[in-house]
Amino acid sequence: MKFYSTNNPGHQVDLAEAVIKGLAPDQGLYMPEEIPVLSKELLDKFPEMTFQEIGYEVIGALFSTALSQEQIKELVDHTLTFDAPLVKVEEDVYSLELFHGPTLAFKDFGARFCSKLMSMLMEKSDRKVRVLVATSGDTGSAVANGFLGVDGVEVIILFPKGKVSELQEKQFTTLGQNITSLEVDGVFDDCQRMVKEAFLDVELNKKLLLTSANSINVARWMPQCLYYFYAFSRLPKNDKKAAFAVPSGNFGNIAAGILAQKMGLPIAHFVAATNVNKIVPDYLQGGLFAAKPSIATISNSMDVGNPSNFPRLLALYDNDDQELKSQVSGCFYSDEETVKAMQSVKDKGYTMDPHGAVGYLGLKDFMAKNPDYQGVFLETAHPGKFRETVEKALDLTLTLPERLAAFMDGKKKVEALGNDFEEFKAYLKSL
Ligand SMILES: *Cc1c(COP(=O)(O)O)cnc(C)c1O
Repeated sequence: MKFYSTNNPGHQVDLAEAVIKGLAPDQGLYMPEEIPVLSKELLDKFPEMTFQEIGYEVIGALFSTALSQEQIKELVDHTLTFDAPLVKVEEDVYSLELFHGPTLAFKDFGARFCSKLMSMLMEKSDRKVRVLVATSGDTGSAVANGFLGVDGVEVIILFPKGKVSELQEKQFTTLGQNITSLEVDGVFDDCQRMVKEAFLDVELNKKLLLTSANSINVARWMPQCLYYFYAFSRLPKNDKKAAFAVPSGNFGNIAAGILAQKMGLPIAHFVAATNVNKIVPDYLQGGLFAAKPSIATISNSMDVGNPSNFPRLLALYDNDDQELKSQVSGCFYSDEETVKAMQSVKDKGYTMDPHGAVGYLGLKDFMAKNPDYQGVFLETAHPGKFRETVEKALDLTLTLPERLAAFMDGKKKVEALGNDFEEFKAYLKSL
């Protein structure tokens, strides 16, 4: 199986190189050269199969030319240690709860798969991989927990001092072992810039094997297609078409849904829902793709001004932008609208986090115009992860799940760092 760069289809690498490099040398994103299509007979069996069994089929179809059957089983078993229930919220409206993993956000799926695959690929090597991560919250915790204790891999997390919630911070700064947290005297953009500079620094890359574990990495991006297959198989069988609404930031999650569609899953429509960081909705509604500085909102994991997976959306539709625009519609919502949706759905007995609420709004607006559909919105985080916002919006006190509360007892261990690349470089050289 080969992967090409979205900047140059002639540049092709194997799975190991795509995963260890993360980003192509020409800064393009890696894409599978061929997308396998599952037969209708197989898809028709999914409703009777478990999440794991569906996982073996889907991951097997994608990776069987690069990995053995045992490796595929091991990867799926390591990734799917928790469920993703499809919960009915209203007539024809379902929430796909992706927050039952160790750090209570959907990023656990990709992070667990990515860490396991990297350790498999490095097994025969005596080199150590260093995973550099810049985080504004959720990515750091999912990646750190996914990689904790993994042999041959060391994770270095850069986060902006005082800009991450205490709960989010505790989820990666208290772990120790192969996880190091650097508290940067700056903002998230500084962290991201320093990590990018490290990947481009010739001297550092001669000395160290550096990689990334954000959603540009195929090992984090591709396994996310799994839960689309699972959710679809659990929808009631009727003559309604299926729409999936995805609360989006860097657009890795929705791109994985489109990958599932390209593999033969008959999803009829996607809704890309964002907060006021509406770069992609603007594009889908006929504008140009224009990156902008990000705006802070209550759905802060989607405060992205330059969505990094955008080239993948186009690549999945063979760079046919009309086809992309007909299959995917874009919409965006203000914080006020998001809070109102959380309140009205709470009155019906279901608690949404602010990100899921953006997805819910997108789905409802689409279904109002398209009554022949049933729909799923992706609930990407546990409401407890955004406790203050949820408690204020809904006027209640949330009880934190035990595994989240447990992090609060841990002791924070960090190293301080300025926001200057040379200081970060000196730190990396000293390893
Ligand atoms: C990361 C994140 C998103 C955005 O996902 P993308 O794949 O970047 O579009 C949405 N919701 C939550 C809770 C997240 O942590």
